[in-house]
Amino acid sequence: MAVLKRVDSSPLLLSSNNVFPKEYDVVVVGGGIVGMATAREILLRHPQLKMAVLEKERDLSYHQTGHNSGVIHAGIYYKPGTLKAKLCVEGLNLTYKYCDKHNIPYKKCGKLIVATDPVEEKRLNDLYERGKKNNVKDLEMISAEKIKEIEPHCLGTRGLWSPHTGIVDWAEVTRSYGKDFVEKGGNIHLNFEVTSFKATAESSPAAEGDGNKYPVSVLGRGGSVKACYVLTCGGLQSDRLAQMSGGTVDPKIIPFRGEYLLLSPQKQHMIKGNIYPWRSICLETCNRFQIRAFLSLVYISLLEWMGVFGLAQMLFLPSNERDMAREYVGIIPSIYIFCRGPAGVRAQAMDSSGTLVDDFVFEIGDKGIGKRILHCRNAPSPGATSSLAIAKMIADKAEKEFQLK
Ligand SMILES: Cc1cc2nc3c(=O)[nH]c(=O)nc-3n(C[C@H](O)[C@H](O)[C@H](O)COP(=O)(O)OP(=O)(O)OC[C@H]3O[C@@H](n4cnc5c(N)ncnc54)[C@H](O)[C@@H]3O)c2cc1C
Repeated sequence: MAVLKRVDSSPLLLSSNNVFPKEYDVVVVGGGIVGMATAREILLRHPQLKMAVLEKERDLSYHQTGHNSGVIHAGIYYKPGTLKAKLCVEGLNLTYKYCDKHNIPYKKCGKLIVATDPVEEKRLNDLYERGKKNNVKDLEMISAEKIKEIEPHCLGTRGLWSPHTGIVDWAEVTRSYGKDFVEKGGNIHLNFEVTSFKATAESSPAAEGDGNKYPVSVLGRGGSVKACYVLTCGGLQSDRLAQMSGGTVDPKIIPFRGEYLLLSPQKQHMIKGNIYPWRSICLETCNRFQIRAFLSLVYISLLEWMGVFGLAQMLFLPSNERDMAREYVGIIPSIYIFCRGPAGVRAQAMDSSGTLVDDFVFEIGDKGIGKRILHCRNAPSPGATSSLAIAKMIADKAEKEFQLK
């Protein structure tokens, strides 16, 4: 699954002709799933544009995109009416269509959220109502018997069953977006860490950077390119990238670490799909080939639902592997053998009052080259599931800001 492996370098992804031009109409900084999906979307809409993606690592998907739970979320938790809820539900459908069309393996194994007492049952019911408001397809409250039918080793008094939740390798999906982009003539510059944006030497200050066709110099450790317009999708670094073109300090990106535990191979047969004990942890089958199971904290996706207090409980209750395992042995008693798995770091935006920012944040300057650089400063999770829907929204924004024809 995405979280468990690094993608290998693939020369295929680098460039359509392996000769890198130095001048582009639009440059996208960040080769995670959001940057790559957006670059692809813009190029599909405007095939005449010369475009590049600049990525500081030696491959795409090196950060959040390659270190996540690999879940195709159905959109149950998010506050009804929010963009996050809308884009997730839309993104799930687009993801399945995209994977079918491009032969990317996935498993629509469903997701079971399990309650074990009346208090949890009540919360589960509230969650069900929320999911219905979000138009999550075929969501169902189920009995203890039905839980057994779906997951024979799982104990619970009531369950919430989401049959369309799935798993996929998000790094592979991103690689495929990259392939589409390169096939359409885009270039991907790896090992290119952007360090600053400057007005190109030729551009006239009097013309506020409009003195030539490529007024923005994008400088980096991997060299430099010139661009007419720049879009940044830098994940954990998105606040720093924004500040490089004079952007505000807020919102800052706070890294949240999520840890995984792996089920031992002897126990993997006991889990068919994604199982989430109501309280704090999730058990998910992963790796579409080996059905490897892992456990993860799902604190951010539950944050909106449970509030900060609930989050604090969840973060501090399962403070180590043993506690996490104990939480979850409550619903699948005979599973007890775990080993430490991988970890991922989530980019969470926070404003100066300490409030976590839960919506998309875009920033563009009002003078000089700043007018030509659009920063996506927050693309809230589940950004992978929503990536194709997010890409459409960012491409609309870029078309408007950059007047792309
Ligand atoms: C632990 C965890 C579990 C998650 N589980 C799920 C899940 O199950 N399902 C789901 O849908 N979502 C999940 N998410 C969320 C999802 O992974 C993210 O929303 C998504 O990957 C964000 O993509 P991104 O492109 O914005 O960021 P990233 O993947 O972090 O990409 C940003 C890229 O920008 C590059 N970059 C930064 N600065 C520069 C620079 N100066 N120059 C050049 N390049 C630069 C970075 O190297 C990086 O490759 C999870 C996230 C985490 C961390």
